[in-house]
Amino acid sequence: MVSFKQARKLVMEKAVTLGQEIIKLDGAFGRIVAEDIHSKNPVPPFRNSAVDGYAVRSLDIKGQIGQVRLKLVAKQPAGDYYGKKIGRNQTVKVMTGAPVPPAADAVVPVEEVEEKDGYVELKCQVKSGENIREAGEDVKRGQLIIKKGTWLRTPHLGLLAACGFGKVRVYRRPRVTVLVTGNELCRPGRTLRPGKIFDSNSTILKALLETSGAELVAIKKEKDNLKSLVEAIRTASNLGEIIITSGGISVGDFDLVNEAAKQIGGERVFWKVAQKPAKPLAFYYLKRGGKPVWIFGLPGNPGAVMISFEEYVRPFIKKIQGCSDFWPEEIEATLTKAVKKKKGRLNFLRVRLENQAGSWLATPLDKQESGMISSLTLTRGIALIPAEADYLAEGEKVIVHLIEW
Ligand code: AMP
Ligand code: MG
Repeated sequence: MVSFKQARKLVMEKAVTLGQEIIKLDGAFGRIVAEDIHSKNPVPPFRNSAVDGYAVRSLDIKGQIGQVRLKLVAKQPAGDYYGKKIGRNQTVKVMTGAPVPPAADAVVPVEEVEEKDGYVELKCQVKSGENIREAGEDVKRGQLIIKKGTWLRTPHLGLLAACGFGKVRVYRRPRVTVLVTGNELCRPGRTLRPGKIFDSNSTILKALLETSGAELVAIKKEKDNLKSLVEAIRTASNLGEIIITSGGISVGDFDLVNEAAKQIGGERVFWKVAQKPAKPLAFYYLKRGGKPVWIFGLPGNPGAVMISFEEYVRPFIKKIQGCSDFWPEEIEATLTKAVKKKKGRLNFLRVRLENQAGSWLATPLDKQESGMISSLTLTRGIALIPAEADYLAEGEKVIVHLIEW
């Protein structure tokens, strides 16, 4: 049995990127950038107005509120370009986002101006630079805007669009096949026969994978039968780089995933981790036509599936996509209740998190058993209770991993 720390290290050591591709910006959400990106354009691309108003030369107006009348020489909506300089005591009406004419150095908002018969009268002071957005004030031409290894989220996509990128170079996504094992499984929505349970892991793994960046090739339900399991794993190994199984990895008479993985040539990286839940977690590695295939043998219990996915599979998928920040986000929190456990295995404890005056409080939830799902709907964090601990008092600090599901 390996420790949590060793197991994570062994998994991550195997993670290698799968090449790169150039894809459209639309559709790049959640992908990981494969190069440093420098903007080819300044943002904004030209000097423009931050308000609907009148572009003026502040010198014309200095200290003469209510006395100066400016001649309105043009009107400029956003999208048009009025390239002429404005002369002394002239103004151009500009809408938000419209270019500011060259000689103008301020824009007076419409609310501060009276317009009559082709002239405007100002009701306020004007400072040079006021309400003008300078070219490049957000992003300069040539500026590094996104670093290699960045996980593209909404603001990154917005920034790339603003800089004019229609495409982006990203790492390839791993293709994943899910095999849920168990003779007892019944599809939700069907009638449950005696001895059967509804299959929740298919739904869970599909949802987890949707937010992981991986490409889900197929989800298949497998009987606890060695021959068909070997075939299913073999087929999956030809369809992609990652196989996730659920169930059949423990020491029961019908737990056949280890044997099946071995029969198709899988090299066992580890089996069994000193953790609770997900003790029987297994990880295999094999080569198929010169390409790597990784097998995560997750336990059958849904709680163990979700937690081991967050702790191992999601970081692994991020890393093979070139993400430089792949571990779960971590906070320190104070236990509001004592925790008792047996020594020997690290416990992933489902906690309710509350922020009080800037500090996190973690309250252990009821229903922590690995087959239980209900408490997982109430938690955003998993506290790590160290293997060697058997008691943590109220008020002690714990590390909590924030979950992304
Ligand atoms: P196993 O490791 O195959 O013995 O499974 C451990 C426990 O998880 C058993 O109680 C199984 O019935 C349950 N289990 C296995 N697969 C699923 C699944 N897809 N959905 C819900 N529970 C499952
Ligand atoms: Mg089973």
